[in-house]
Amino acid sequence: MIDDILVKKLLSQIVKKDYEENLKKRFREVYLDEPIPEGMDNLIGALELPPEELQLIDNNIQDSVDNTITPIIKSLIDGIETDEEIAEKTGIKLNIVRKMLYKLYDLKIANYKRSKDPETQWFTYSWKFEKDELISKIKKDTEIELSKLNAQLEEEEQNMFFVCPYGHVRVNFDVASDYDYQFLCPACDEELEFQDNAEIIENLKANIAMVENDYDSFIKKVESWL
Ligand SMILES: [Zn+2]
Repeated sequence: MIDDILVKKLLSQIVKKDYEENLKKRFREVYLDEPIPEGMDNLIGALELPPEELQLIDNNIQDSVDNTITPIIKSLIDGIETDEEIAEKTGIKLNIVRKMLYKLYDLKIANYKRSKDPETQWFTYSWKFEKDELISKIKKDTEIELSKLNAQLEEEEQNMFFVCPYGHVRVNFDVASDYDYQFLCPACDEELEFQDNAEIIENLKANIAMVENDYDSFIKKVESWL
């Protein structure tokens, strides 16, 4: 179950956040006062990262999910409760185990109980994996993703699109024909061109089919997991 593609997708968010912070820092160094783009994809676009670097980031994220986060969750599922025992069992450094446990806690897919040892007066934290939270989070995320993709598909299917030949804007007929545009690019004044969006529509449909397929197989696994 924990190797399911949608589970991995959710877990990769945890590490993606770190990379996003790094890219934001880099953006600030290069562009100083310009507003920072939201989201990983927009940051990557704005920084014009070379494909080798994208591949490297992608590999690192996969590596963290497969070799750090997944073994930690598997330990929790196996009933191992403390960070020290998890570190011992998985061979992952204790500080990293702790860091990841708190990231899982932020996503609400891990929780802990604190108790005081009556003899030493030390606090122990016993961790627990929140399976139901993971399942409901994936359900919610996928529903949001699918409704966004379907809205996008509808917009593409029901409109004609016009683009600046230099890539400054892409707008539908209503916007292109209104008073502000009059079929001219607001950035460079070049005439906007009609764009055949058949390929965009095909890609969106393929993407929707893929997400639906992943979701179906996730739901089937959940039934046997409960
Ligand atoms: Zn233009």
